[in-house]
Amino acid sequence: MSDNFFSNLIETGQFRVDDDGHVDIMNEFAMIMPSPVAGKLYYEMEKELGEEKCAEIWKDIGRFQVEQAAERYQGRYNFENMSRNKIIEFTSKMIKLNGFGDIKFSEFTKEEGAKVTLAGSVLASRYRNIAGEKDKPVDFWAAGILERHFEVIFGVDVEVEETKCLAKGDDHCSFDIRTIN
Ligand SMILES: [Zn+2]
Repeated sequence: MSDNFFSNLIETGQFRVDDDGHVDIMNEFAMIMPSPVAGKLYYEMEKELGEEKCAEIWKDIGRFQVEQAAERYQGRYNFENMSRNKIIEFTSKMIKLNGFGDIKFSEFTKEEGAKVTLAGSVLASRYRNIAGEKDKPVDFWAAGILERHFEVIFGVDVEVEETKCLAKGDDHCSFDIRTIN
């Protein structure tokens, strides 16, 4: 069995194409779009809706994605008996699979929260190609995924703030995760 998560999914039939040509990843159809399209979508939404509303929607989408995934993987993966480190490792792989690139987590505590770094957000770099460099981060989709993910694992409400982003010329993206009391 290969070490590469993506290859593993193919080998185990969890990534397959059905007879009608649908791409099925872990029991749900996936719509695969070229990354410039995602960058363009973000750019157009921001132009029409304003920065704040656009950010809110992308964050909600990330949170929704985790909810959906958690439901789908229930039964397939035994999360209750998985250590938190194992769950974080699993999520890292899922985030990579979404095209966000390599991700690293510092250890999470309720007092200190955690720091997360993302090596190469494709969405942010494509956004920058279309819209030019920005003074604010754009990875609200990833922030929403992280937010809901930490809430589910640690049972606390958290807020996630992106402090560094490829979209504003940083060489990687970085997120602060803080517990909300
Ligand atoms: Zn970013």
